[in-house]
Amino acid sequence: MYDSDFLSNAESSKQASRQLIGQALQIVCDSWPENPYRGKTPAALAELVGSDFLPPVGHPEHVVDLWRTIVGNSIAVTHPNTVAHLHCPPLLASVAAEVVISALNQSMDSFDQAPIATVVEQKLLRWLCAEVGFRASADGTFTTGGSQSNYMGLLLARDAFMREKWNWSAQKAGLAPHARRLRILCSEAAHFTVEKSASQLGLGTDAVMRVAVDDHFRMKPSALKNALETLGSEDLLPMAIVATAGTTDFGSIDPTGEIAAIAREAGAWLHVDAAYGGALLFSPTYRDKLRGIEAADSLSIDFHKLFWQPVPCSVFLVGDACHFEAIKLHADYLNPEVNQDEGIPDLVTTSLLTSRRFDALKVWTSFELLGREKLASMIDRTIALAHHAAEVIRRTSQLELVCEPQLSTVVFRYIPQPTEADADHLNAAIRRSLFHQGLAVIGHTRVGSRQCLKFTCMNPATTRQQIEELIAMIVTEGRNSSAANPG
Ligand SMILES: *Cc1c(COP(=O)(O)O)cnc(C)c1O
Repeated sequence: MYDSDFLSNAESSKQASRQLIGQALQIVCDSWPENPYRGKTPAALAELVGSDFLPPVGHPEHVVDLWRTIVGNSIAVTHPNTVAHLHCPPLLASVAAEVVISALNQSMDSFDQAPIATVVEQKLLRWLCAEVGFRASADGTFTTGGSQSNYMGLLLARDAFMREKWNWSAQKAGLAPHARRLRILCSEAAHFTVEKSASQLGLGTDAVMRVAVDDHFRMKPSALKNALETLGSEDLLPMAIVATAGTTDFGSIDPTGEIAAIAREAGAWLHVDAAYGGALLFSPTYRDKLRGIEAADSLSIDFHKLFWQPVPCSVFLVGDACHFEAIKLHADYLNPEVNQDEGIPDLVTTSLLTSRRFDALKVWTSFELLGREKLASMIDRTIALAHHAAEVIRRTSQLELVCEPQLSTVVFRYIPQPTEADADHLNAAIRRSLFHQGLAVIGHTRVGSRQCLKFTCMNPATTRQQIEELIAMIVTEGRNSSAANPG
């Protein structure tokens, strides 16, 4: 008899699988370490992990211990002192949905692998397009993250430009002879995946022009106009403009409406990177900050940030679905053209991937469970927490607030006393030391030439008092680090 544990129909298998799933949920719910991290170095972790991954015979009794080791040496994303990245504590409803998603194991590439999942994904995406304010011609696809969504935006932009301006099919013929003249404009605070995409698209990172920002790190429309004039005088072509709705460091939101008008006049595609700020769609308090995004040609929104979904969960939306034609190919075994004629949707045609997860179910599950009002209050609460942190930092003499929070990030600096160590060195040391002591996982970034600290608030359950205690801990650590390394 074959007794391995599939979620099959055999009664014995079912029992074993159920038990293991129960234990998994118990471990992740109950065994979080007390600290945000235990502080082990890569070398110590390598030793702990060992190098034997496939024993000659299985040891089912080791599995739970293995998981405990993993949990105990992970970043506790639910801990109030975990504030480094756009890295959220996932909703338990979504974690439960993950079990259903994985057990069903539908694959989104073809209807005959994912019948109802295909319909759910399509309808959810079109509903989201309507929430954005797109026309009925809009559509989208689920992606693995903002990086892939930004890449798709610039891919479709590149192909549309070559098709419309040069009657050239990049899909068939690759880069057009004049592709070296193409340029992508984005702000100085835009995400590095703009360059990464440009390099992967055969345009090279030199194709990206960074446009100046104002003192709130938002793209300056006047600087964008100047940049476009410069391009014109150098015989270069603005293929796309990337506006950011929520920059990773500052949460700054570019003036999308104004940028859209400039893009239209320049004949450039407008991609809006709302990986972070897209959540404001569902906050009546802040929805207005996204005014103008409905003018985008394409849009990235991450559900694994301010929607509290487990990674991966992200979408790429396009204002006019016809642009997906540029990446469509048919495989006889998967999505033959006859399916299209018969109205059978095979979502492989709109994705960069083939096998793909049913991530839409996580989103639907948590939306169903929370409802609109609760979701809005979670977003607002998280932003309010960042504002509170900024207020406390402003009145703490050892700290300097670098920028008012615009979403849920707070960028600041520890200011050394005259006798204390070099400021850049000290700020880096504070973060490192708190991490390795397992006390806090805080972020860092450079602003100009200055090394800064950063909170990325992602947990609406964190209290004001907890964030105050974290700030006090940073001040203490700054003093201790200074004493250890006097200037
Ligand atoms: C997080 C982020 C990205 C990258 O998204 P991933 O989901 O990590 O791939 C891109 N742009 C912005 C503005 C982001 O905040």
